[in-house]
Amino acid sequence: MVKPKKYLGQHFLTDNSIAKKTANLVINSHSKNILEIGPGKGILTKQLINIKEKEIYAIEIDNESVEFLEYNEIIKKPYLINGDFLKLNLNKTFNENFIIIGNFPYNISSQIIFKMLEYRDKIDFMAGMFQKEVAQRIVSKPNNKTYGILSVLVQAFYDAKIEFKVNPGSFFPPPKVDSAVISCKRKVNFKLNCDEILFFDIVKTSFNQRRKTLLNSLSKYNLKKIDPLPDILKLRPENLTVDDFVELVNLI
Ligand code: SAM
Repeated sequence: MVKPKKYLGQHFLTDNSIAKKTANLVINSHSKNILEIGPGKGILTKQLINIKEKEIYAIEIDNESVEFLEYNEIIKKPYLINGDFLKLNLNKTFNENFIIIGNFPYNISSQIIFKMLEYRDKIDFMAGMFQKEVAQRIVSKPNNKTYGILSVLVQAFYDAKIEFKVNPGSFFPPPKVDSAVISCKRKVNFKLNCDEILFFDIVKTSFNQRRKTLLNSLSKYNLKKIDPLPDILKLRPENLTVDDFVELVNLI
């Protein structure tokens, strides 16, 4: 028995057809290695193991779930890692490109995305279940209330799309929110035409004060001295596409 633990975001999927549809998304990548984050009781893991020519690893923080997975012979060490995904050194785990997948714990979903971005050189595909609002933020386009840091940073390096929506009734216990599975396929050319560290900083700094114009929110960069003042600085961050942000970084 695994008792669902709220603090670990444990909402176990009960609908096998959703697990199957999610697992099948990995055929969008040629990578052999797959890392499942939070296998829980293994509903998705069992589907992944059926997929040919892929090697499945899983990381689970909950000891009780790890015991369950091993006892029921769903996945075992060394493929099953008992630990915290957020602390895992992925460079030590994989030498080549890999996929991340999961019905993610919603309390750390943004942190999972930031870690994917940190390891973008290695992670060429992601398929994951998110709270619907977070999924919408990730795929959102400019001039939209939901367009923000996650949208720009993910879409700079990945083609992101919502694959399908999932109702609370597909989980036990049911979450209070709707969910959606999204996929992120890394772009063929995922190197930006600008300083990438500065790109991250400018995107984050500008959206931290999203109602202000870029001239004001990015005041730490001393932009007022630029003469004549470029029009782009009179805009708000939600008006800028990824390419506009790249242009802005080069300007700065
Ligand atoms: N994959 C299972 C399913 O679909 O039924 C479980 C999904 S449940 C929403 C999220 C899982 O992530 C839980 O098993 C939880 O223990 C695990 N988890 C939470 N935080 C984690 C972390 N930091 N690292 C690894 N696993 C974590």
